[in-house]
Amino acid sequence: MPVLEGSVGVEDLVLLEPLDEDSLIKNLQLRFENKEIYTYIGNVVISVNPYQQLPIYGPEFIAKYQDYTFYELKPHIYALANVAYQSLKDRDRDQCILITGESGAGKTEASKLVMSYVAAVCGKGEQVNSVKEQLLQSNPVLEAFGNAKTIRNDNSSRFGKYMDIEFDFKGSPLGGVITNYLLEKSRVVKQLKGERNFHIFYQLLAGADAQLLRALKLEQDASHYTYLNREVSRVHSMDDASNFRDVQSAMSVIGFSEDEIRQVLEVTALVLKLGNVELADEYQANGTPASGIRDGKGIREIGEMMGLSSVELERALCSRTMETAKEKVVTTLNVMQAQYARDALAKNVYSRLFDWIVGRINESIKVDTGEKRKVMGVLDIYGFEILEDNSFEQFVINYCNEKLQQVFIELTLKEEQEEYRREGIPWTEVEYFDNSIICNLIEHSQRGILAMLDEECLRPGVVSDSTFLAKLNHLFSKHNHYESKVTQNAQRQYDHTMGLGCFRICHYAGKVTYNVNGFIDKNNDLLFRDLSQTMWKAKHPLLRSLFPEGNPKEASLKRPPTAGTQFKNSVAILMKNLYSKNPNYIRCIKPNNQQQKGRFSSELAVVQARYLGLLENVRVRRAGYAHRQVYKPFLERYRLLSRSTWPHWNGGDREGVEKVLESVAVSSEEFAYGKTKIFIRSPKTLFHLEEQRRLR
Ligand code: ATP
Ligand code: MG
Repeated sequence: MPVLEGSVGVEDLVLLEPLDEDSLIKNLQLRFENKEIYTYIGNVVISVNPYQQLPIYGPEFIAKYQDYTFYELKPHIYALANVAYQSLKDRDRDQCILITGESGAGKTEASKLVMSYVAAVCGKGEQVNSVKEQLLQSNPVLEAFGNAKTIRNDNSSRFGKYMDIEFDFKGSPLGGVITNYLLEKSRVVKQLKGERNFHIFYQLLAGADAQLLRALKLEQDASHYTYLNREVSRVHSMDDASNFRDVQSAMSVIGFSEDEIRQVLEVTALVLKLGNVELADEYQANGTPASGIRDGKGIREIGEMMGLSSVELERALCSRTMETAKEKVVTTLNVMQAQYARDALAKNVYSRLFDWIVGRINESIKVDTGEKRKVMGVLDIYGFEILEDNSFEQFVINYCNEKLQQVFIELTLKEEQEEYRREGIPWTEVEYFDNSIICNLIEHSQRGILAMLDEECLRPGVVSDSTFLAKLNHLFSKHNHYESKVTQNAQRQYDHTMGLGCFRICHYAGKVTYNVNGFIDKNNDLLFRDLSQTMWKAKHPLLRSLFPEGNPKEASLKRPPTAGTQFKNSVAILMKNLYSKNPNYIRCIKPNNQQQKGRFSSELAVVQARYLGLLENVRVRRAGYAHRQVYKPFLERYRLLSRSTWPHWNGGDREGVEKVLESVAVSSEEFAYGKTKIFIRSPKTLFHLEEQRRLR
């Protein structure tokens, strides 16, 4: 593998020769083993999680990257953040930074590096500093409520996040807006073996003093709570108690009042206590199974904290009111149904609390001056996911990644074309895989999978996950990117890896089999009206405000949009937002599954490189000219290759470059002279120049 001077492997994969999956991974590995975790593809940064603190961050490094241009220093997230911030400031172009990669790959850490870089370089003064503090302090708060220990990552973000940071014309921060996507609320009531619930529950129990615990009617011991998996209540690398103090102080810095903080903690405690509500079999006088609450003390405490009578609460959990145009019929729930209602309530309270917190942060950081602003968006969102059992959540996450890939290809090509136009160089068409056919399969407003799912959810009569699957099979039997057992059998393909209740989508990153089990339920995401109406009656101001639809005056028969439609709409808004900005990419890779430093598994990296579309990225990037450089630095570097330019040269930069290139034996096809830059077609030519330089 050719090596450029002063670097390990190649610092920019565009220069990789030969270019294939194997050489790409080997190059990343070689660099990783030398603690060079960052590598470029043009202006894209690939970051391989080192799982150790490297001495390449902090004020000294920030200062260095601020003073140099992109290619002058080693690849770094700071370099990308610097380019993005400078062009926002000087060229008045809104920027977005898209960070993708799988769980544990380092997205959230990368987003924090970007934010801390920008915060360090963007203006000073008391006012500016307080805005910066608020923006930075939003991280610990959102992490406490939205992150959890999973098998893959001790601090895994269980929600997607997009944050717009807004600046004035001088480049000083004014504030921002955070959008959150799809919190994994099922975690509130159930976690996999070896995983935890959201951090805040453990932080609260470990960090609250006796007085607070008493006020919240909590026991200190996590094992007391059904919703907290009894196996792991501590994470080795985390100090829950001290994090609890940090979260509280971060909330004050952001602008939460004492009272608001207390109410947030009360609602959090309520969720925990709900989990301990034990439901038992009861029978009505006529012998029909019903349910009742076993632990009178628990339900009384919850009622007191909510500001509801325990009778009301029990009624909401254990019975259901059916309303028709003429009458109201109350039916009793059996134990299973009542448990389902209890868990649905807990999940809803928590996820609405999370939305409320994001909204409250936004209230504090929102910009209310009318002046024109410059915006930098930072997207930290779940990467492409293929688990053993893929469900509705993976389906929407992968849909989002499919859309991001579409933005990526379109914007990268567009940017390339623009640069060629600016430089006056003819454009060569690039062939690439257009994934709009897959996006359409999922999102088409009448005939897409999400539309079919909605149709099934709203259709009267008996609907189930299998009627939904049957519908898909019927509609997409001939679609190139859709497969199922039924379509396979029709084509006489017998694939034992696919179950009956599954369908498969051929995503740009590979095939994923989804199990339809639970799709209808998760898409419906219904909270029984009895529960929302009861919550709305609660005296607890925050809790009550989380259930506006419980207000009988507001109750309309129109049902809220389904989870799938809501997600699709928010993805559409996100896409529109991204398309209006200049994109910068950070692609994160996880080197091993053990969260260990120094270990690089090529098998793991290959799969991720595929999901991230890295090879395609390099191909697109070097379709026309692999390398380009402004005339002056290029001339400085290679001046010594020509007698005309060495040791003295008094002419223009471009003429000098022409002289240099005339004197080396390379075909003229290999170069194009742009307005400000020299373009070089293949990496070999660059290496040839380097070689010549070394020989002098
Ligand atoms: P998820 O999708 O689960 O949220 P993620 O991609 O956001 O995952 P991070 O939480 O950013 O992953 O990173 C996981 C862990 O890896 C961090 O907690 C940290 O220990 C380590 N890590 C990530 N990036 C770096 C880095 N640049 N330097 C040192 N350690 C890092
Ligand atoms: Mg994360």
